[in-house]
Amino acid sequence: MKFSRGMLLSLMGYGLVVTAHAQDAVTKTPVVKAIKFGKLIDGTGKVTTNAVVVIKGDRIESVGTGDSAIPSGAQVIDMSNRTGIPGLIDVHTHMTYWWDKNPRTTPNEGAANLLPQELAFLAGENARNCIDIGVTTVRDMAARNYTDIAMRNLINRGVMVGPRMFVAGPAIAAGGAVPRWGQAFPWVPPSQNQASGVEGVMTLARQEMAAGADFIKMFGSSGGFQTVETHQTFTYEEMQAAVNVAHTNGKRIAIHSYGASGARDAVKAGADTVEHAIDIDDATFAEMNRKHIIYVPTAYHNVWYIQNYKEFKWPESENLKIQAYQDKVEETTRRAIKAGVRIAMGSDAVFELFGHNTEELTYLVKSGMTPAQALAAATVNGAAALGMENDLGQVTPGHYADIVAVDGDPLSDISVVVHNVKWVMKGGKVMVDKTAK
Ligand SMILES: [Zn+2]
Repeated sequence: MKFSRGMLLSLMGYGLVVTAHAQDAVTKTPVVKAIKFGKLIDGTGKVTTNAVVVIKGDRIESVGTGDSAIPSGAQVIDMSNRTGIPGLIDVHTHMTYWWDKNPRTTPNEGAANLLPQELAFLAGENARNCIDIGVTTVRDMAARNYTDIAMRNLINRGVMVGPRMFVAGPAIAAGGAVPRWGQAFPWVPPSQNQASGVEGVMTLARQEMAAGADFIKMFGSSGGFQTVETHQTFTYEEMQAAVNVAHTNGKRIAIHSYGASGARDAVKAGADTVEHAIDIDDATFAEMNRKHIIYVPTAYHNVWYIQNYKEFKWPESENLKIQAYQDKVEETTRRAIKAGVRIAMGSDAVFELFGHNTEELTYLVKSGMTPAQALAAATVNGAAALGMENDLGQVTPGHYADIVAVDGDPLSDISVVVHNVKWVMKGGKVMVDKTAK
């Protein structure tokens, strides 16, 4: 029997997989790794020089200092001329918004003729682009046909490269005559994500959780892409119903609102996070602090839209509207920071914004955060938004070994995190290594 080159390669690949599994089965002890960092910012506010992070399997075993902290037999990874930070968490992505960059289509039309199965595979490009910049966890904010659940599962299975995904499924949008809703969100067939009334909202939320959604996402207002409309679409009672059914099932809920009234009702209803909103009033900020509700201002994506409007083929005049909205986003973020509201980094990444998600940090600092606060927004606060504080967002014992090495000092210059990611580990596995000279 003759083998083609392709067959031989695939047989060789199969052989390697079998060997790896066999070794695991024989040794049964996870590989111990020790990473040396010149400086470690662990996410709790602590900074350690000459840190040694010991990893067993996919979790952090210990954090010590100096070579004496390296266990004998450990595989040593030397990052002693770099700074270690926790893997970054982007709490607002749209991973399945993928485009093949065909100039005859706009990004929003790009996936229109793809099967959900094709899209789940092709959108792996967005997932890889997250890992490449140190984003090891995302909260993904709505996808049609449960392609987000497929991606999450493929990544967890280890056959797709990408961040840990926490997904919403199709999300919950208001049914009926919502002006221009279809234009703003052409992605989800109405039957999948539209609900009306308390019972309708509760039924859809339960369906999505049963299908495997990790949390509930509700569109509490219009607004999206170039449409920066702020009118509320769900009533307070409908929001409260969604919050109740999510919390009763031990799930969290994120409510999208471009405007102030939707944010006010979302906070009153007890949502866990409020996305986007501008002009949030002081009383609502105070209530967010009281109820530990996290604000996700998505302070960068509108800038990216303005820079890329030609690709989307909307008239240049739309950009004036978007810029006016962006000014208010930055102003509201500044007020939220002053009011002490907990903020998490959410990029609202779509299409080629993936790979630039962390530019959000630049805009959080522009709006008044210190670099340390911005780093917290992208780590511990992101973990809090997911309810995963004990597993994610810190380089401390017991947490997943999601660790990023950067060149430079993030605490004096946040751009180091945005542009100088050199090495990425997720769950104890090295995913990116750009340290070779
Ligand atoms: Zn979004």
